[in-house]
Amino acid sequence: MQSNVTLITHPLIQHKISILRDKNTTSKDFRELTREIAMLMAYEVTRNLPLQDKQIETPLSPMVGKELAGYDLAIVPILRAGLGLVDGILDLIPNAKVGHIGLYRNEETLEPVEYYCKLPKDIQNRVVIITEPMLATGGSMIDAVNLLKKHGAKNIKSMHLVCSEMGIKRLTEVHPDIEIYTPVIDKSLNENGYIVPGLGDAGDRLFGTK
Ligand code: URA
Repeated sequence: MQSNVTLITHPLIQHKISILRDKNTTSKDFRELTREIAMLMAYEVTRNLPLQDKQIETPLSPMVGKELAGYDLAIVPILRAGLGLVDGILDLIPNAKVGHIGLYRNEETLEPVEYYCKLPKDIQNRVVIITEPMLATGGSMIDAVNLLKKHGAKNIKSMHLVCSEMGIKRLTEVHPDIEIYTPVIDKSLNENGYIVPGLGDAGDRLFGTK
């Protein structure tokens, strides 16, 4: 596996992913589980954030504790399915700013088309976590990272529920500096660009639109 990919094998996450994959899971449960998985994954994604010393006083004595050095994160969901992962990260990092990128897939070419972009002004100074449940062909992610880099973002991580081998390969070829976090990597894509076995259309399953 590429060194920029972190496979999150924690049993709680693996268990919940299997429930997400089940076609009989309702939208309500799908949304709740996605939020829980995002919170658990945020723990891993933020594992290497730098710390600095902080002088504090306990009721008993002064001491040197730790605090995050530059507590500046931005969560950037790719609309619309990426929204499903935002609240779980905010549960853990409530001060993070949230930007939005709107992309849809041209059904014929499978290429992403940008229709919305609103980012925190100081995005260049923030650790950015892109949320996109499905890294399938890699097209939307490549486009989203291009856009973020154009706005000055330098430190970019991505959080997914399911990745395809091809999506990881394509994204890494174009953007080798991106740190990818995922609990599972599936082998194939079908002719419509869906991950197989995957979990179906993440947006439809989150929002009950099918
Ligand atoms: N988008 C989805 O929602 N699911 C896939 O399998 C691929 C792209």
